[in-house]
Amino acid sequence: MKKKNIQIVITVLLVVFASTLWTSSAIAIHHKVKSGETLSGIAKKYDVPMESIAKANNLKSVDHIQIGKKLIIPGEAKTLNAGGAADGTWHVVKDKDTLYSIARKYNIKDWKDLQKINNISNPKHLKIGQEIFIPGDESVGFENPLRISLVVTSHYGYRNHPVTRHYRLHEGIDFRARTGTRVYASKTGTVTYAARKGGYGKTVSIQHEDDFSTSYGHLSRIYVSVGDFVRQGQVIGLSGNTGISTGPHLHFEIRHKGKSENPARHLDLP
Ligand SMILES: [Zn+2]
Repeated sequence: MKKKNIQIVITVLLVVFASTLWTSSAIAIHHKVKSGETLSGIAKKYDVPMESIAKANNLKSVDHIQIGKKLIIPGEAKTLNAGGAADGTWHVVKDKDTLYSIARKYNIKDWKDLQKINNISNPKHLKIGQEIFIPGDESVGFENPLRISLVVTSHYGYRNHPVTRHYRLHEGIDFRARTGTRVYASKTGTVTYAARKGGYGKTVSIQHEDDFSTSYGHLSRIYVSVGDFVRQGQVIGLSGNTGISTGPHLHFEIRHKGKSENPARHLDLP
């Protein structure tokens, strides 16, 4: 090959490479802070200014970052995301989507957060097919699904069912709750069930990250539908006494990979 041809090939390759970098630059990922890491080190790793990371995460101090904290890395190439470090989901922009409508769909209070996280300079110019990062839940824990002081009326474990008298595993905890008490998503996730379910009456189930799911039984009202993305603390329905039940209460389950776990392990109970 002639010298000139080689130069052309190199130029073309450089242009292709640069445009790949440019198109993927409008995407953010999450980085989980590990022991011994500093903000400047993380900034160096992703080749992003330290100030941008501090700003995107509302960090008050750049000297103290908590181990385990999930930092948003603004404007980072999605390819680095292959390790599954991201805690959230992606939305592909469709016709007529706006940052406002996307924020509403995912229950994000302020659409400007999406702008900031995704490093979008002009929110009026979203491209169809563009991917928008929707941040997940910053907290790792499950929250009180009733947001009132919890009173346990039946624990997790084997028992004689109060109505059927059958001896079997009670796969959740029952909390006292007057009919009409608001029921909140214990953790951010996607609704996988929202209908009557035999003895559990009107039930909502939510799929969370890391193969966890929660279920809420005996509801009087359901406010969500299958496929809805719900945030931790969002009202999903009202408690009640539907299904096989001896009185108004909330039946609450936490499952991991489909197997029930004692919610007492995940919640602060009295
Ligand atoms: Zn129960």
